[in-house]
Amino acid sequence: MAIKVCKFGGTSMADGNIIKSVKKIIESDPERKYIVVSAPGKRYSGDTKVTDLLYACYKSLTENGVCAAGFAPVRARFESLVRELNMNIDIDDVLDATEKRIDEEKSEDFTASRGEYLCAWVVSKVLGAKFIDSENVVYFKENGKLDGERTYKAIKEACADCELAVFPGFYGQDINGKVKTFSRGGSDISGAIVARAMQASLYENWTDVSGFLACDPRIVDSPKPIKKLSYKELRELSYMGANVLHSDSIFPVRKANIPIQIKNTFRPQDEGTSILPSSRYMPAGNTVTGVAGKKNFTVIFIEKSLMNAEIGFIAKVLEVLARENISVEHIPSGIDTMSLVIASEQLTDFKLQRIIEGIQTEVSPDTVRIIENIALIATVGQGMSSSVGTSARLFNAIAAANINIKMIDQGSSEMNIIVGVKNDDYEKCIRAIYSEFFTSAPCE
Ligand code: ADP
Ligand code: ASP
Ligand code: MG
Repeated sequence: MAIKVCKFGGTSMADGNIIKSVKKIIESDPERKYIVVSAPGKRYSGDTKVTDLLYACYKSLTENGVCAAGFAPVRARFESLVRELNMNIDIDDVLDATEKRIDEEKSEDFTASRGEYLCAWVVSKVLGAKFIDSENVVYFKENGKLDGERTYKAIKEACADCELAVFPGFYGQDINGKVKTFSRGGSDISGAIVARAMQASLYENWTDVSGFLACDPRIVDSPKPIKKLSYKELRELSYMGANVLHSDSIFPVRKANIPIQIKNTFRPQDEGTSILPSSRYMPAGNTVTGVAGKKNFTVIFIEKSLMNAEIGFIAKVLEVLARENISVEHIPSGIDTMSLVIASEQLTDFKLQRIIEGIQTEVSPDTVRIIENIALIATVGQGMSSSVGTSARLFNAIAAANINIKMIDQGSSEMNIIVGVKNDDYEKCIRAIYSEFFTSAPCE
């Protein structure tokens, strides 16, 4: 029988009643055998996610020496969730043991991981399924990357004797045997890892929207859903800020060609989005698949006559950044100019000053200019390379909205064009691009 791995996100775990609908979804398809869950998310706008409560709990532990005060709201959240389930599940011992271990471990990652741990424990009781603690099956290497070989083997072994299993997402074990989390939103990666380990025919990612939308629904009202997306497009869009799926979740499934289906827990009848290996994907005819973006970048603009003829120029500039341990997002360049686009959170004033001085010493440029508070917006589509005039349409739409473009970078894959605009123009620019490519033409 084909196997599906299903990951349910935070809003799908928010309270006991929603977990009852999740149970129905799982039980309606016998192929749904391996379940990965996030920590309970927000129940209403203004509510706090359990993971955020846990980060605050860790802070209170460092301040008070014990976590009791910070753990109280987490305890209350799980107690009410279990009450709503009406299922005679006794969670008190597990909560007590968790609180005790948080005090002993004194680790931020360990504390943050307990939302997924407790949630998976509850869901395993609800489903009558085996609980497999990711601490014992997901392994990180010394460099912090996933130890795929060891992890896939351990997951397979743990699942050998079970029909239905539940895993907590978001964490695993480092080389010192300590719990380590992925970055925020990382349960999507855990789901992909279990899918790869179990050679699933499909990785279903259940969330609170009916699939990947052509842009962020918090910026444009009801954007069009995207029915099909290639792995490559997914990577570009999610990396650039479409956080419906963690941008790293693609890696475990890509090697095994496992498709991903994004589904809505609250509207399971909706088709959602299929994310397919690029070889099985045909662009649907529309040039642009989606638009995504992120705020808060700094651009270092460097100008020097005959820069292009100077051997090793770029290497010397990048060496200055490497010395400061700074990663560069994009490097658009011309014959006499280059720009370095850097996430501002990496740069303190002091570091920026040292970088500018380093560049001046190493390559003696004519000008070095800093442009701060830049938002990057990526317009993505595998069909873009074969359609004429896309960039003209894009730039005209942005100009018509009276937005000044500070930087342009066309990816060498020709499946994206990235523009840099002022942070303040970010939402307006996304709306202008969306309206140019999606409101007149039908979206597949
Ligand atoms: P989960 O808790 O299920 O992992 P997330 O909150 O991480 O869910 O991701 C789903 C959210 O991503 C949506 O509620 C939506 O607000 C946001 N989002 C941002 N960009 C997009 C997009 N292009 N398509 C769909 N959702 C998006
Ligand atoms: N609970 C974690 C977070 O809030 C992981 C996840 O939801 O995927 O980031
Ligand atoms: Mg998420």
